[in-house]
Amino acid sequence: MYSKILIRYGELTLKGENKKDFINFLKEDLMLRIPKNEIKMEYDRAFIDYSAKNLDSLKYVFGISSYSCAYELENNLETIKSKVIDIANNKNFSSFAIDSRRHNKNFSMNSNELNIFFGDAVLESFPNKKVDLKNPDLKIYVEIRDKKTYVFTDYIFALGGMPMASSGKVLHLISGGIDSPVAAYLMQKRGLKVSFINFITPPHTDKKTTDKVDKIIESITKYQMNATLYQINYTKIMNYIGLVSNQKYKITLMRRSFYRIATKLANKFKIFALSTGESLAQVASQTLESLYTIGEVTDLPVFRPLISFDKNETIKIAQTIGTFSLSIEKACETCELFAPKNPVTKPSRKEAKKLEEELSDLYNLENEIVDEVVIKEYKIINL
Ligand code: ATP
Ligand code: MG
Repeated sequence: MYSKILIRYGELTLKGENKKDFINFLKEDLMLRIPKNEIKMEYDRAFIDYSAKNLDSLKYVFGISSYSCAYELENNLETIKSKVIDIANNKNFSSFAIDSRRHNKNFSMNSNELNIFFGDAVLESFPNKKVDLKNPDLKIYVEIRDKKTYVFTDYIFALGGMPMASSGKVLHLISGGIDSPVAAYLMQKRGLKVSFINFITPPHTDKKTTDKVDKIIESITKYQMNATLYQINYTKIMNYIGLVSNQKYKITLMRRSFYRIATKLANKFKIFALSTGESLAQVASQTLESLYTIGEVTDLPVFRPLISFDKNETIKIAQTIGTFSLSIEKACETCELFAPKNPVTKPSRKEAKKLEEELSDLYNLENEIVDEVVIKEYKIINL
């Protein structure tokens, strides 16, 4: 049975204070998933106790490049040698290699000498096997550290990215669509803890719509273990914008309004950025002119991690993270309900502003619904 899981940090170029912060944030995240006394953080590695549950939880942790299930041994040549032979004894292989690393510079042999020592030991026990350094069937890694030695055979590739919350927070506009959950995941990947804002328009949207968003948020919350949703009942503003004289601008005006409301909430909760699932040229509201006209209403940075993605690329990630099947379930979506037949594809800021002046109650209504926000908390108990 393995004793430890050896974890390698991502972004190894980090130095000094940044590296300390990186390790601390990673530790915070691990502690939400794994008992504190089963975690040990070192300057270049983390170690957690081996268990199927702990192993599974690493699928959702950012800031890790890879990990390995390992045997933890005393720094003793004979002990390590017998483990190496034991591993070889339990594997099917004809060629092998030893990859030793001596972190502990006081250890009696250097990496090269260690490779030869353990290689010879394997050959002695299994004379019909051969060494192949380039493409071995079996590779046995030996990592000799200050206090202990770790022996393992496999690397499991992890999510990469930056540790959860190490970059701060973002307020993410989430819909029941395919794109915005993937965009949220990519924000998490870069170390942003995501809070969500969702606009609903009852009775046009119903419990099915909110249940769908619930499930989607629960699914991506696995990457940060807890999350907040700000749910905004947008019906009265949708109806009000519906009265505008230039119907082609309805979606443009609604999206400007979404951004304004999100900005107010972000300011209130000290969040310094917004993010969305927008992708350039995917639909009428995502042309450059549209993004320009909509972006005018906020002074926060707006992150659009999917801006250059093809739909297929987004779908692939959605399938990997498990949101695709949730997103394609049928439910009424706020935006779809409201879309005019021929939405403007090249809106202008000037026209949008003029139309908003026409809707003289708009900004007051927006303030009103921000005060009526419903806050929902999500917490992952079992992955
Ligand atoms: P998605 O698949 O994410 O819904 P989409 O390609 O369908 O995106 P739109 O419906 O135009 O495009 O939405 C663009 C972005 O606006 C979404 O990615 C999301 O960030 C935000 N958005 C859309 N509808 C809502 C909503 N009801 N509540 C909050 N944000 C929304
Ligand atoms: Mg949508």
